[in-house]
Amino acid sequence: MKKTSSTRPALAPVHFCVEALSHSAHLWQVTLTIAQPAAVQALTLPVWIPGSYLVREFSKHVQGLRATQGGRSVALAQTGKASWQVHCDSAQALQVQYQVYAFDNSVRTAWLDDVRGFFNATSLCLRVAGQTDGPQAIEVFASEAMGGWQVATGLAPVRTDARGFGTYQAADYDELADCPFELGAFWSGEFEACGVAHRLVVAGALPSFDGERLLADTRKICETQIRFWHGAPGQSAKALTRQVPFSHYVFMLNAVPEGYGGLEHRNSTALIAARRDLPRVGEAKTSEGYTTLLGLISHEYFHTWNVKRLRPAEFARYDYSQENYTDLLWFFEGFTSYYDDLLLRRSGLIDDATYCKLLSKTINQVLQTPGAGVQSVAQASRDAWIKYYRPDENTPNSTVSYYTKGALVALCLDLRLRAQGQSTLDAVMRGLWQRCAAGPMGEDDLLAVLDAQTGRSWAPEIKAWVHSTRALPLRELLSAQGLEVQDEPATLAERLGLRATDGPAGVQIKTVLSGSPALAAGLMARDEWLGLELPGPGRAGSAWRIGKLDDVSVLLGAHKRFVALVAREQRLLRLPVKLPASASTLRLVCGERGPAQWPAA
Ligand code: ZN
Repeated sequence: MKKTSSTRPALAPVHFCVEALSHSAHLWQVTLTIAQPAAVQALTLPVWIPGSYLVREFSKHVQGLRATQGGRSVALAQTGKASWQVHCDSAQALQVQYQVYAFDNSVRTAWLDDVRGFFNATSLCLRVAGQTDGPQAIEVFASEAMGGWQVATGLAPVRTDARGFGTYQAADYDELADCPFELGAFWSGEFEACGVAHRLVVAGALPSFDGERLLADTRKICETQIRFWHGAPGQSAKALTRQVPFSHYVFMLNAVPEGYGGLEHRNSTALIAARRDLPRVGEAKTSEGYTTLLGLISHEYFHTWNVKRLRPAEFARYDYSQENYTDLLWFFEGFTSYYDDLLLRRSGLIDDATYCKLLSKTINQVLQTPGAGVQSVAQASRDAWIKYYRPDENTPNSTVSYYTKGALVALCLDLRLRAQGQSTLDAVMRGLWQRCAAGPMGEDDLLAVLDAQTGRSWAPEIKAWVHSTRALPLRELLSAQGLEVQDEPATLAERLGLRATDGPAGVQIKTVLSGSPALAAGLMARDEWLGLELPGPGRAGSAWRIGKLDDVSVLLGAHKRFVALVAREQRLLRLPVKLPASASTLRLVCGERGPAQWPAA
C-alpha cells in the first residue's frame, strides 16, 4: 500500500488520491483532501453520468466513509442518499476517505480486478460543495499488482511517470467527471488526425487482434469528421488543426466476451465491444461485427462536437443530483446516429451496398415499432430516464427510440434539403456550430439555421416529424434521391408481430406487438411456445414439438392457419393463429445517386 496524500502537499484545493485497496474484492480506495473546507462542509456524489440518461445511484457502492483533520476523526453525517456533511475546523485541511466497490463492466461506472481498472469520477469522486467550479487534482497510484499496467485518460497530466501513474488536474468537477481513466496492460497505439494527437488503447484483446488496422481505420473516421465540422475549402492544414476543439483525444476500448456500448466525453470515449468484432491479423475483409464497431467509434467521436459542445440548453450546467430533462435527444442522439454510418461511407470504410443495408435496418426497426404511433421523438427524449433506459415487454408498443427515429428525421431533413438544392444537413450542422458558438442550443436555433439557409420556415416538417406520431415520408424522399425502395418478404416473427428468443423449453415470447396476428391469437409476453398443430387430414394434420422459431417456419410451409401450443404459468393452452396473406419489410437498393453521391457539401 502506498502512503496517501496526508504527507504530500495538495496540488489543488481539492485533491483526490485513488489507489487499489483490493483487486480481488474490487475495491478502490479514495482519499479526498480539501485544503480549505467550509465550517459545515457538504459533500455529494452524482446520481447519474452525463450521456447516459438514467439515475444510477452511484453512492450505493460507496462504503467506509470517514473524515479526519490532522489525524483526528471528525463527525460525518449522511444527509441524503448521496450527500454527507462534515462539521470541521475551516482553518485546517479536511481528509475524507472511503472505498468504492467497482465490479460493473460498463462504460458508465467503475471496475477493478486482477487485469484491469477503470473509473469515471462520477463513481469515485465526491463533489465538494462550494469548490466544484475550481481545480480538482487526481492522483492515481500503482499498486504492487499493477506491474506492467499503464494509465490512459483525456485529462491533462501534471506530474506522471512514463506509465501514466501520478497526478492529473481538471479545471473543475465537470472536466473531472468527463475524463474517465483506463488502467491495465492494454494495447496502445497513436496517430495524428488533421494535426491533432489521438491515442487508442484496447484492453482484453486476443493475440490475433490487428491493432494497426483499427488504428488506420479510426484515423480515417477522425479525419473525415474533423473535415466535416471544420474543413472550409482552401484553408491551410494549420488553420484546420487550430479549429479542432480539443488538443488530444483518447479512445479507450474494452474488449469482452459479449458487450456493446460507448459513452462520449469531451476529448475521450469509453467503449465496450465483443472480442470477436475486433479486426484480426491476416483478415482483410470487414465483418459485420467490425462494421458495427467502426460505427460505434464514429458515433462517439461525432458526439465530441454534437452533445459535448453543441448541447441542449438544459445541459448548459449539469445537475448531478437528479434527472436533467431535454426534448432534444432526437437531435443529439438521432442526428449522431444518422452521421455515424454515413461518415463511415464517406471515409471509404464501407460501400454503398453496406450503407443501404444499415439504413434499411434502421428504417425497418422504426416501421416495426408500434410505439412510433404512440409517442413522438420529442416525448421519447423527455421520457428517456424512465422509458428508453428501463425497457420492458411493453416498450415497443408504447415508445419509439430517439436514436433510430431521430436518425430517420435527420435522413428526411437531409434528403429534402438536397432535393430542394439549397442546402444540406452538413451545412445546417456547421451553421448550428457557428450560431451557437459550439455551446448550448435549442430547437429554435435549428429552425433559425434552416430558415437562414433556405429562405423558408421548416416548422411544419419539425412539427410533423418530431412532435407528432405521423409516419415519415421516407419512400418519397428516398426514391427522389435515387434509392430504390423494394419490398422483401418478412420473417415469421415479423409476420406474427412478436419478438421472441429460443430457450431451452421452447420459444420464449418477449413481446407481442400491438395490432399483430399474435395479439389477435391471444399470445402473450412470457408465454413459452412449445409446439404447433397443423390442420388437415392424415399426417398433415398433426401436432409437433418445437425448439426454436425456425422450426415453426419449416413446419408451416405454405400454411396460413395453425394452432399454437403454449405454456403460461402452469396452464397448457391451444391458441388458433391466422397469419396475414402477405407481409413485407423494406429494402433499399442503391441507385446511381446513392450515398456515395451525397457529397460532404
Ligand atoms: Zn450517442
